[in-house]
Amino acid sequence: MKIRDIRATTVAVPLEAPLLHSNGAHWGRFVRTIVEVEADNGLIGLGELGGGGQSAEAAIVALKKYLVGHDPLMLEALRLSIANPTASLYNNRTQLLAAIEFACLDLVGQDLGVPVSELLGGRLRDQVPFASYLFFRYADPATGRGEIRTAEQLTDQARELKDQHGFTVHKLKGGVFDPVYELECYRALAEATGGDLLRYDPNAALSVSEARRFGEAIRDLPNDYYEDPTWGLGGLRQLRGLGLEIATNTVVINFEQLAANVLDRAADVVLLDTTFWGGIRACVKAATVCDTFQLGVSVHSSGELGIQLATMLHLGAVLPNLDRPADAHYHHLVDDVIADGMFRYVDGAINVPDGPGLGVRLDPDKVAQYAELYRELGDYPYDRDPGRPDWYPASRQPRWADPTSPQPESLRW
Ligand SMILES: [Mg+2]
Repeated sequence: MKIRDIRATTVAVPLEAPLLHSNGAHWGRFVRTIVEVEADNGLIGLGELGGGGQSAEAAIVALKKYLVGHDPLMLEALRLSIANPTASLYNNRTQLLAAIEFACLDLVGQDLGVPVSELLGGRLRDQVPFASYLFFRYADPATGRGEIRTAEQLTDQARELKDQHGFTVHKLKGGVFDPVYELECYRALAEATGGDLLRYDPNAALSVSEARRFGEAIRDLPNDYYEDPTWGLGGLRQLRGLGLEIATNTVVINFEQLAANVLDRAADVVLLDTTFWGGIRACVKAATVCDTFQLGVSVHSSGELGIQLATMLHLGAVLPNLDRPADAHYHHLVDDVIADGMFRYVDGAINVPDGPGLGVRLDPDKVAQYAELYRELGDYPYDRDPGRPDWYPASRQPRWADPTSPQPESLRW
């Protein structure tokens, strides 16, 4: 089997409402680039990337001249041919490699008639548990619905998601409002979810001293972990005395950083992202290192449609040391581009697809619909807040959003 063609289609798929985070926002939609790698036997493997509000079509198509004629099973050669570590100093293609790797694994699985999880060593579980991922949100400008700004709105959403999907772990994306206000919200969340485990993730927006004060103030709660409270391995390391497990998806995202974290521990839990690490296989390798050194792991979400979610499910299925629920943005989406409808949560978990390869196929009508929506709406600046046009993000954030101010009538930048 040889790669014959590579195609990329950028889509915009609506979210229930704009999602706020410490770096800005997802502006009411996810912009994702769907990758199709066609083999000379007619099979088509699927990949996906995005998350930063930008199209990656041109960057993916530019890989054709490297990869046409390549055998999709030769994955290490593929990695070196487009993402050699030293060449990557000039052209970092880690995320592109990930999308191509997904598609190649999908091709090989289809060719052999086995799910990707079987190619990765075989599944240890048939369902992957997920946490509810809670965001502060603007109301959807079209419907006026979906706002989450107050503790009451937050706890209402947590209860609703728990009832609807069966989540028993809840993660609050913070770093938007002053930490004193977010602390009130987090404590209210603990009260409302009756002993369920909690995660707080301000995307590294707090100073070390703010992160220490926040950590001290939540020690009595059932915390699962404290995720990227401040920036950097050096910052996280200063919080090790808090008695909270520290997790990261920002500063342990490659093997050099993992080695540094093993030699001088900063994070206890490494959140493995199939895109950030450059593929599912890199995450499996990283999980083995983590298991060896008794670091915890979980599966990170950088914003996904069904193809990327399938990569997270196959990864979660094969990790012997996955002892925590994964994260997904998926329940904030209103639709997907995959055939046969969206993935469903049952008792807080999603079934690992059983079909060959990734086990998901595209719905061409949905792809066309959301490619058209992308052409209409375009990219969005992930690192800007549509409600605060003059604001920009910073570590040790000096300018928090005001939870008492009404939502601007038009969200713009
Ligand atoms: Mg995070």
